[in-house]
Amino acid sequence: MSKSKQNKSTENLIMEREVGKIISEIKSLADKIKENLGKIDWKKIDEVENKISAKVGSDVDVWEGGTLVSKKVKCGKRGCKCETGKHLHGPYLYFVFSDGKRKEVYIGAYDKKFSLTYIKGKRAHRALKYLDQALKLLRRVEKLVEYV
Ligand SMILES: [Zn+2]
Repeated sequence: MSKSKQNKSTENLIMEREVGKIISEIKSLADKIKENLGKIDWKKIDEVENKISAKVGSDVDVWEGGTLVSKKVKCGKRGCKCETGKHLHGPYLYFVFSDGKRKEVYIGAYDKKFSLTYIKGKRAHRALKYLDQALKLLRRVEKLVEYV
């Protein structure tokens, strides 16, 4: 239970009011972040995530456990234009991750949008996680101020 207003000093009341202002400012910043995240094409990102999961298995965390890279490759066929290393195939997208050993899984032909969408989603995903942590800290501050 919080102390009644009568038992609090003026300093305490000022502090409570100031902390309250700070918290509400941070909450409105959080709302802005969420609003911006809402503009991301989550459907496209789900597609990318499902595609990667289908290839690497559900044990691998697509968001935290790897990264998407594009590269040009040699096909290995004798007499192919790629043999000399000058005219490689691709670029193709690979999901690179580690399960103790570094692994590369072929995802598909390089599509700039596809890969940018994924990176955007990955950043947004991380931002949301940080935001959740920040809000948890704020709730602790809120509780502390109540008891002052
Ligand atoms: Zn080739």
